[in-house]
Amino acid sequence: MSGRTTKAAQEAKADLPRLMQALREQGVTDPQVLKAIETTPRDLFTPDLFKDRSWEDSALPIACGQTISQPFIVGLMTQALTVEPRSRVLEIGTGSGYQTTILSKVSRLVYTIERYRTLMKEAEGRFQALGLTNVITKFGDGGEGWAEQAPFDRIMVTAAAEDDPKRLLSQLKPNGVLVAPVGKGPVQSLRRYAGDGKGGFRVEILCDVRFVPLLAGVAKDQ
Ligand code: SAH
Repeated sequence: MSGRTTKAAQEAKADLPRLMQALREQGVTDPQVLKAIETTPRDLFTPDLFKDRSWEDSALPIACGQTISQPFIVGLMTQALTVEPRSRVLEIGTGSGYQTTILSKVSRLVYTIERYRTLMKEAEGRFQALGLTNVITKFGDGGEGWAEQAPFDRIMVTAAAEDDPKRLLSQLKPNGVLVAPVGKGPVQSLRRYAGDGKGGFRVEILCDVRFVPLLAGVAKDQ
């Protein structure tokens, strides 16, 4: 990182209190979730070109044509997942690793899958730099889930599935929770599936979101 970029990032960090206030006003109120966001240096996850916008409440481009999610959406999805300290969580779509880091702070263990090797490696470097010891990564097609490690207490999908993610729902514990953007177009609805303990789910629609699509197979790296 250049000296100039570091300075810009430091100045931008002064915006953290404003960001936290914006999240609270929009309904992110879970103290654990807020603390996880407040203590995660988002500028570690944004590309050099956008370092100075790290503390804005907006999604930003990252490598491989993907995006780092908007902090409000990260907060909302993490809160909706109702993670418990003992939870084993599966995340699909590691991307920058920002959402993974937030999950790692509110749960016991996070398994995360990414289909771009480049993104996976960069994210692994960040987990190491942050000293996270409860994140397990996998390069692969997250649509398949992680059968060897299933069932999970919680599953978060950070890319848009066209329809109910049945394969992933089958890897959830009977009383587990899965949060995912679902829909075909550029705007999807954020859905929360809560297991009823008998193999069924209660489905709640939370809000409209814009995510990159969940694609099949692994990516040919650029
Ligand atoms: N949670 C990320 C957001 C990443 S954007 C963050 O905070 O930065 C969504 C990510 O999902 C992209 O990196 C994309 O490559 C990945 N993705 C899409 N389909 C996938 C699949 N089938 N398996 C694994 N990752 C997938």
